[in-house]
Amino acid sequence: MKKLIFLFITLLGFYNCSTPSKFDQKKVRNQISLGETESILVTLASDEMKGRDSNSGGYFKAAEFVTSYFKQHGVEPFYPSFRDSLITKDVDSYNIVGRIGAYNPKFKTVLIGAHLDHVGVKKTEGDSIYNGANDNAAGATAVIQIARFLANHQWEKNIIVALFADEEKGLKGAYHLAERLKKEGVSLEYMINFEMIGTVLTSGENQVYLTGYKRSTMADEMNKISPQFVQFLPQAKELNLFKRSDNYAFYEIFGIPAQTLSSFDFKNFDFYHKAGDEVDKLNIENMNQIIGTSAFTLAKLFQSNATLVQFQNE
Ligand SMILES: [Zn+2]
Repeated sequence: MKKLIFLFITLLGFYNCSTPSKFDQKKVRNQISLGETESILVTLASDEMKGRDSNSGGYFKAAEFVTSYFKQHGVEPFYPSFRDSLITKDVDSYNIVGRIGAYNPKFKTVLIGAHLDHVGVKKTEGDSIYNGANDNAAGATAVIQIARFLANHQWEKNIIVALFADEEKGLKGAYHLAERLKKEGVSLEYMINFEMIGTVLTSGENQVYLTGYKRSTMADEMNKISPQFVQFLPQAKELNLFKRSDNYAFYEIFGIPAQTLSSFDFKNFDFYHKAGDEVDKLNIENMNQIIGTSAFTLAKLFQSNATLVQFQNE
């Protein structure tokens, strides 16, 4: 009987923590539910979070929500706690940093991130709370959902998941974590960032573009797994969006492929940094598809052990 119970527990363990070799896109996408995506997004973009300015109670409330979500869903703290404190002249805040599974120094380490902060409350006519549903409750929702999915499986990689403070005032949270990891001798292989994935890319549904598209083989590797998923957006190059989100801090500090996936293409959303950046302006179904496809693509990328090659210029 004891043996049987042991066998049962072992099988249960395999079932819960299997390596996802047999995953197909449909199976993974089924684990990213529309209801859950909507519920996280609505929570992060609610008035209660007061626009998530890094120094305000609203940001801390959002950070607590993420922390307890991670605890509930098997994401472990990367440091002794989930907090990576960030104190500068202008900021007293923290990033939230988790890991998937135990840290194994023999494995390579990758990082998935998104900024959690937004611009807060402004004195304007009418609505004064800038909820930042697309920027970047949407990207944060992707990282939270993907972390929950990844935590159900075992990986031959160290996976760090991070929600950054203070992106809006100069990528400060991301620089802080990148510098800290570098100092601690964590050698990052690549970093993938999520920004504004709440509307449909003009080229088609369930698509994103990658900033710094030609700076590495990241887009090619992702499109090998999910054809057409990752697009090239000319404006992203013209406006140098590569340098305008948290990925850039990791590129600068580590010199690794560190790029942002986004679906905001300047034609499909009129409320960037406006009070109107609200949940009702977003296409949550498409956003959920993007998150599901990203989860599948990252799962396959992590499994394949493909080496991403970094180039000097775009
Ligand atoms: Zn943003």
